[in-house]
Amino acid sequence: MSTTKPVPDDADVRAGRLGDEQIASNFADMHPPLTKSEAIIDADRCYFCYDAPCTTACPTGIDIPGFIQKIRSGNIKGSAHTILSENIMGGMCARVCPTEVLCEQVCVRNTHEDQPVRIGMLQRYATDPIFKDSIPLFERAPGSGRKVAVVGGGPAGLACAHRLAMLGHGVTVFEPRQKLGGLNEYGIAAYKTPDEFAAREVEYILSIGGIEVRTGVALGKDFSLADLRAKHDAVFLGFGLAGVNGLGLEGEQLEGVVNAVDYIATLRQENKARLPVGRRVVVIGGGMTAIDIAVQSKALGAEQVTMVYRRGQEHMNASRYEQEFAQIRGVGVRTWSVPRRLLVSDGRVRGVEFESSRLSTDGKLEGTGQTFTLDADVVFKAIGQKVLWDRLGDAAEFVELKGERIVCDEERKTSLPGVWAGGDCVFGGEDLTVSAVQDGKLAALSIDRFLKDQGVRGK
Ligand SMILES: Cc1cc2nc3c(=O)[nH]c(=O)nc-3n(C[C@H](O)[C@H](O)[C@H](O)COP(=O)(O)OP(=O)(O)OC[C@H]3O[C@@H](n4cnc5c(N)ncnc54)[C@H](O)[C@@H]3O)c2cc1C
Ligand code: SF4
Repeated sequence: MSTTKPVPDDADVRAGRLGDEQIASNFADMHPPLTKSEAIIDADRCYFCYDAPCTTACPTGIDIPGFIQKIRSGNIKGSAHTILSENIMGGMCARVCPTEVLCEQVCVRNTHEDQPVRIGMLQRYATDPIFKDSIPLFERAPGSGRKVAVVGGGPAGLACAHRLAMLGHGVTVFEPRQKLGGLNEYGIAAYKTPDEFAAREVEYILSIGGIEVRTGVALGKDFSLADLRAKHDAVFLGFGLAGVNGLGLEGEQLEGVVNAVDYIATLRQENKARLPVGRRVVVIGGGMTAIDIAVQSKALGAEQVTMVYRRGQEHMNASRYEQEFAQIRGVGVRTWSVPRRLLVSDGRVRGVEFESSRLSTDGKLEGTGQTFTLDADVVFKAIGQKVLWDRLGDAAEFVELKGERIVCDEERKTSLPGVWAGGDCVFGGEDLTVSAVQDGKLAALSIDRFLKDQGVRGK
């Protein structure tokens, strides 16, 4: 499913700017896996800290020294079990987690040697064989006869579904797209997860059994929250952020102005060599999506890619590591610049006028009055996503919201009895794959307690 607008015929936007081989090399695995000897050398660097700070920094609380110790002793399957029992998407997280601001940032090896243990790479080393050979590590408890609806087949929904299935509950996942995986399948940069890894991980998760999947159906279109509550013992909402923030500029709907997430979704699903790309690309935004669309445009052969952010580099949501990665890949970065006007002719965008910005004495962003323009064949909007409440039917009427996202307690219970939520659609989260997985897991454990409690009280 893609909503990428077709680009105009006479713009300098075309497919095949690079040969197939060059494109394949540009999109190759960003961090090729460790060899056995590399893994052993890295595992040997771990101090197996008591109260390990890396474990505290991991949103899913993986016993990191524990899994590294098992790699050292050659127990790879046991190591994978330690990882996946806390984070069933430990394979994807090993590829996409910003470890430089999570576990690896706090590794004590940073102070001793200026370089952390490569925890993410070791996690991948331990989990790759499990997904490659579909080695079962988890069993389903005897069926409880209870039914749970999971809305959304992204990381939050799938983590919740897997844990509920393990605990013996019957689960139905409702998903509008044809494939499960959410942004793992349709969003994450292609060079972080090549070789259909997202699909393999989904297959592995479903292989536990007890999870019915219904694709092509959406909350708010095919059923309501009230319907789900009436037919299930509990409901988990993990529908992510389907909407995109607008620039608020005239001409935003014109050809050549494209939502970055829509283009990325197309890029993840289609033959990259056939994907039209602009010669001069301007990306507006400073987060992970902006970095990903900028780097991937360059990888498709765009000559000039400029990422423009309204504040300073230190304020960007993308980590310093990601910013440097983009620059190494040939992306230009301009900061302290606010888009003021789309330059348009013949019904399509030709460029963007920006005003330089700064912080006022009271800390607010203000324009300096100085402007500059950047020519563009394509302008990507990457200034954040939002929940599309008007497409979700009765859901917004029932659950408490803050800043348009769902309010949950520590167990991921919403204000509505029998309804839990997690992932990007909840308030106060990190908007990371690993946090969505943790939300799904915590919600499943809470749902299990709720169902057991109901069972006891019913007797
Ligand atoms: C371009 C991009 C790159 C990213 N890169 C990284 C990265 O490198 N590392 C990282 O950790 N995080 C990254 N993230 C963030 C990460 O992908 C998300 O935090 C994570 O996917 C959130 O999981 P989720 O399950 O809450 O939502 P999603 O992954 O969005 O899944 C939600 C699911 O719900 C479905 N849905 C939507 N509406 C309905 C409905 N009405 N009814 C039923 N189902 C519905 C959707 O189709 C989707 O399958 C990136 C995000 C983007 C946009
Ligand atoms: S902080 Fe570093 S050295 Fe200590 S347990 Fe974690 S990975 Fe090992």
